[in-house]
Amino acid sequence: MYVLRGGRVVDAAGTREADVAVADGEVVAVGEPGAVDDAIAAREGDPAEIDVGDQVVAPGLIDAHVHVMMDGRPDVSTAVADSDYTASYRAASNLDAAVSAGVTTVRDLGSRGTLALDAGEAVSAGKIDGPRVLACGRNVIMTGGHGNWFGREADGPAEVRKAAREQLKAGADVLKCMATGGVLTEGAVTGAPELTPEELAAFTDAAAPTDTPTAAHAHGEVGIKNAVEAGISSVEHGTFMDREAAEMMAERGTYWVPTASALRGIVDNGVEAGIPEDAVAKAEDAAGRFDDAWDHALEAGVPIAMGTDAGTPFNFFGEIPQEMAYMVDYGLSPERALEAATVNAADLLGLDDVGLVEEGYRADLVVLDADPTEDVEAWQDPDAVFARGERVE
Ligand SMILES: [Zn+2]
Repeated sequence: MYVLRGGRVVDAAGTREADVAVADGEVVAVGEPGAVDDAIAAREGDPAEIDVGDQVVAPGLIDAHVHVMMDGRPDVSTAVADSDYTASYRAASNLDAAVSAGVTTVRDLGSRGTLALDAGEAVSAGKIDGPRVLACGRNVIMTGGHGNWFGREADGPAEVRKAAREQLKAGADVLKCMATGGVLTEGAVTGAPELTPEELAAFTDAAAPTDTPTAAHAHGEVGIKNAVEAGISSVEHGTFMDREAAEMMAERGTYWVPTASALRGIVDNGVEAGIPEDAVAKAEDAAGRFDDAWDHALEAGVPIAMGTDAGTPFNFFGEIPQEMAYMVDYGLSPERALEAATVNAADLLGLDDVGLVEEGYRADLVVLDADPTEDVEAWQDPDAVFARGERVE
């Protein structure tokens, strides 16, 4: 048991001066010192005092889109030949880097086999340090589609339904499919539709009985609209989102997970850094359209959840908080960026115990030197990180 004493709490509910008491991995009291003292006096033992005067206590960040098996290397195809064991060690190191950076929940949207699902179990069992991991198992993709080197290929509604159910059977917390081509699969056309509307409908239908969230990788506007019409929970990337797609998403409450870090990692580093020419050309082509996507999304009021696609070229787990600054660059206010990475992401993931600094919530907390709703850069370098109450940084 400990008390974070003398700081300000900043979350989607606003900014206030408050002490925060933590016991058994949970926030047990937030508020005036006297009230917090009363709450802890009712418990056994003496709490440790942690002075956070002049500092800010905020919820840990939630990244709704990562790939724990990838490590930000310039050419992802060079990881194909690595053994499953190597991929597992890489995942452990990525998760350690993420949680040290203040990211206390991640959602893996595609790794090989059960790697990310197993990584989640390893974290919750205390075997490795890391954020809480939710995972989709394998991506459901059309034969030869984007990410086919690690996805589960399926064609036609019946096969897609079976592929989706296989992931649920393996313990998936979310289902992920490819509604269009991608940047990192050589030869694939970035925006071209992949799974058909009928296949997407079978996919979301498979998730419906258990209310499992669904995510669609979609760059092109046709694929985005196909996914939204099929009732997908989130559009990942959404690079070529047009006004109509944005309005459809706003109306249905479909989340957008923009993954700006993925595009920036490729465009800002380029061929000289060893990224394949094909991927750089596609990303550069996409960058201008991505600016427009932000305009459409902000104008229409599309709900946004933070996600980075961490693991893609120069998109490192230890630098996930950079996405907060990118989102502000694209026009989101720092307050709305905070919401995107806390309450919105929690809602998208179906979690009701993270995203706020509130009694009964998991003690997933960061201590920052400035208020991130005034200075978004404050997320970059947390002074302390607590994951399920354990100090990890
Ligand atoms: Zn991805």
